Amino acid sequence: MPVLVMKFGGTSVANIDRIRRAAKRVGVEVAKGYDVIVIVSAMSGKTNELVGWVNETSPMYDAREYDAILSSGETVTAGLMALTLQEMDVPARSWQGWQVPLKTNSAHSAARIEEIPTDNINAKFGDGMRVAVVAGFQGISPEGRITTLGRGGSDTTAVAFAAAFEAERCDIYTDVDGIYTTDPRIASKARKLDKIAFEEMLELASLGAKVLQTRSVELAMRYNVKLRVLSSFEEQSDNAGTLVCDEEDIVESNVVSGIAYSRDEAKMTLVSVADRPGIAAAIFGPLSDAGVNVDMIIQNIAEEGRTDMTFSCPTDQVKRAEKALNGAKESGEINYHDLIADTDVAKVSAVGIGMRSQSGVAAKMFKTLSDEGVNIKVIATSEIKISVLIDRKYMELAVQALHDVFELEKTA
Ligand code: ADP
Ligand code: ASP
Ligand code: MG
Repeated sequence: MPVLVMKFGGTSVANIDRIRRAAKRVGVEVAKGYDVIVIVSAMSGKTNELVGWVNETSPMYDAREYDAILSSGETVTAGLMALTLQEMDVPARSWQGWQVPLKTNSAHSAARIEEIPTDNINAKFGDGMRVAVVAGFQGISPEGRITTLGRGGSDTTAVAFAAAFEAERCDIYTDVDGIYTTDPRIASKARKLDKIAFEEMLELASLGAKVLQTRSVELAMRYNVKLRVLSSFEEQSDNAGTLVCDEEDIVESNVVSGIAYSRDEAKMTLVSVADRPGIAAAIFGPLSDAGVNVDMIIQNIAEEGRTDMTFSCPTDQVKRAEKALNGAKESGEINYHDLIADTDVAKVSAVGIGMRSQSGVAAKMFKTLSDEGVNIKVIATSEIKISVLIDRKYMELAVQALHDVFELEKTA
């Protein structure tokens, strides 16, 4: 029988009533003749609550225990979804990550999927089971410990299952009815897209649009998974939501197709480091070893052999970064006068494949921000994106102003 993957995010399984509604949708697909793999997230707010407990207990926590704790949210919803389906006379069984087993590497809290054997679940499908409910976000390391795939990781579980089981489609049910030109919660003029290219979605996701986890888009692109994002609250139809597809399948698009933001950025400046060959390696090596995800980097022009080095990283990694840099200073690998952390910044980015062939986007973006009185602290560009770091209090204003100036409310 053809296989369909249906993923339900946190708000779609937020309580028993919502789980019932989601299960009904699954029942509709089963009635159409699909064998369904349902991937569930934890109830909304649950994972954040668990993170809070971990931090309260141990700020520099052991990531193996963090994963053991965080994975529990999905364990609960998987069991509840299976029970709900059984109550509706749909033969269903739940699977935790280790039971599949969804094999990952050992990078706890940000593990990568290495293999999903299909035989266990396929054998059950062969025995008459119609729905395999799989706890999203969880896996098992080569050492036999529970891993998690990073925040938002259930999206990646879903796409990986769709690839492994050669599913006809991977439907991501969430609390918005598709992918928009920007987050509809902060820009009322955001426009829903019928289609978006993999590459654009990849950039938007990696720049903060949390509607899909970056890795899920990467996997969908690599394995040609038909990936759709749609609402679990609205009526279903065959062309609902947004399809993530190849660039060639999109007829026309704007130069800038979307604006993304990331609220949880921090800017760190090493004041007065020696400007010598190898200094960048001496700074960023220990940061990388400590698991700090450095994003933007600027090195100032040196004066009298010394310079300032600025980089950005997620706010919750500031403590780790400080520890790593202080350690490198104490051991004499680097020398700096001061380390300043600014945790009140946000990153705003404009993304569009059209930027490859059209110039002037950066100038227009900088002018718009300047007209709004927003100071740009760091800039980073690539072929199809421009990102700026600004004071967090201006983030929403900046997103709205850029959405207006690039006329994203209009179709191309
Ligand atoms: P789920 O719990 O279903 O995984 P998430 O909260 O992870 O849902 O992702 C959905 C949210 O992503 C939306 O509520 C919306 O606020 C946010 N979002 C950010 N950027 C976009 C965008 N460009 N289009 C749609 N939603 C977006
Ligand atoms: N529950 C996890 C999180 O909140 C994974 C997910 O929902 O995708 O990050
Ligand atoms: Mg999500």
